[in-house]
Amino acid sequence: MDALLERLRAGLPAEALITDPDVTASYAHDMASFCDAGTPAVVVLPRSVEEVQHVMRTATALRVPVVPQGARTGLSGAANASDGCIVLSLVKMDRILEISPVDRIAVVEPGVVNATLSRAVGELGLYYPPDPSSWEMCTIGGNIGTASGGLCCVKYGVTAEYVLGLEVVLADGRLLNTGRRTAKGVAGYDLTRLFVGSEGSLGIVVKAVLALRPRPPRQLVLAAGFPSAAAACDAVCRIMERGHTPSLLELMDRTTVRAVNAMASMGLPESTEALLLCAFDTPDPAADLAAVGELCKASGATEVVPADDVAESELLLQARRSALPALETVKSATMIDDVCVPRSRLGAMIEGTAAIAEKFGLTIGVCAHAGDGNTHPVVCFDHTDPDESRRARASFDEIMALGLELGGTITGEHGVGVLKKEWLARELGEVGLELQRGIKSAFDPLGLLNPGKLF
Ligand SMILES: Cc1cc2nc3c(=O)[nH]c(=O)nc-3n(C[C@H](O)[C@H](O)[C@H](O)COP(=O)(O)OP(=O)(O)OC[C@H]3O[C@@H](n4cnc5c(N)ncnc54)[C@H](O)[C@@H]3O)c2cc1C
Repeated sequence: MDALLERLRAGLPAEALITDPDVTASYAHDMASFCDAGTPAVVVLPRSVEEVQHVMRTATALRVPVVPQGARTGLSGAANASDGCIVLSLVKMDRILEISPVDRIAVVEPGVVNATLSRAVGELGLYYPPDPSSWEMCTIGGNIGTASGGLCCVKYGVTAEYVLGLEVVLADGRLLNTGRRTAKGVAGYDLTRLFVGSEGSLGIVVKAVLALRPRPPRQLVLAAGFPSAAAACDAVCRIMERGHTPSLLELMDRTTVRAVNAMASMGLPESTEALLLCAFDTPDPAADLAAVGELCKASGATEVVPADDVAESELLLQARRSALPALETVKSATMIDDVCVPRSRLGAMIEGTAAIAEKFGLTIGVCAHAGDGNTHPVVCFDHTDPDESRRARASFDEIMALGLELGGTITGEHGVGVLKKEWLARELGEVGLELQRGIKSAFDPLGLLNPGKLF
């Protein structure tokens, strides 16, 4: 420990190092309950690429594990500390280095908060689409680490589609440049894409070139209430089948609607079994919403209410964004699944989840990026009750098994972390797992980067 601190101090200003155990303990874990976390030896908050290189050279020389962190809003334990590790928090590297309206790119450091970037590019008439519900807190480095999605993916896709190039500090401290700042480019293997979603296991992202789009018109939202989740899922299928491209298509079940109302007095209709939010950012959103409203009615919607204006639309979006925090208030703890299934199987996924909740005698609220088939069943439980905790974990696992059965994936956007490690092996299969482990050891032969995550 003394040798580690001495060596780190040689290349870092004093304020970049935290050693007070009470403070370092607060960096031990992200926002996933129920995930193991170790005790870090030290927390380092670098402000430059050179400082990150110094940390990695030190870690390699002394064989100390390193856990990169952004804002720790992750939901799978992917940023959790391991015992004796260096926590490398990138939050102080938070400069937007360039915004180019001609090239339609932004060049940023990893600690830039998602919403800060969105506002900065918005002022220039540009748009950075990836928008996790945690966008006011989470960082671009964390978004890249988890390949995060959000509310806009049904039209605009996930983070992976916007990362053009990266600067990465490798495990031994070397600096790697991948990708491009051009509109096109196919030189060599796509290492940039490999880093997106790698959960800090291959290198430390210190700079990112991100693609931007022209800012679309502000979106208008429609809320539709259904007598069952199956009817709402039927409406989702109709909307997509008819060729509509909404900018948002989200679902909240009754448990979620009630939790949101209880937490934030949003006045959402509690009598419906499922609430669908659909939005368009097209030149004539009212006309598009009217067409979608008819499709909702054909699927059995009992209430179809288009927002009057952008302000009302924003309130509905706020309600959706507060779904996870609201469900966290139902019981003392939650486990949040992230199963993504083909859209056509969404109804089966939600019905199956309800059956699992009944089987285990638990409350499982479901909110979903319905347009992507990406469900977030939130298992609510009392963590002080061992039996309820055991049932919670068992139901969490059954939900993933159901997702795989329906042709889906165990994680649409939250990542594997420590929470879904066993399930990654099942999804990838033996050959896939072996190759992925080989890739990990090519980048990180000593296994120092974020050990114990993914595999
Ligand atoms: C209320 C709430 C709502 C959410 N909604 C969504 C949502 O809609 N969609 C969604 O996808 N997620 C959502 N999340 C999950 C979370 O916000 C995202 O996963 C986010 O991308 C994490 O960013 P972060 O900065 O907090 O990263 P962290 O949690 O700190 O880290 C995430 C991963 O990235 C790695 N990492 C971080 N920085 C770097 C770096 N510079 N280099 C290499 N690796 C790095 C970490 O090691 C870790 O593996 C939500 C979370 C909360 C609490």
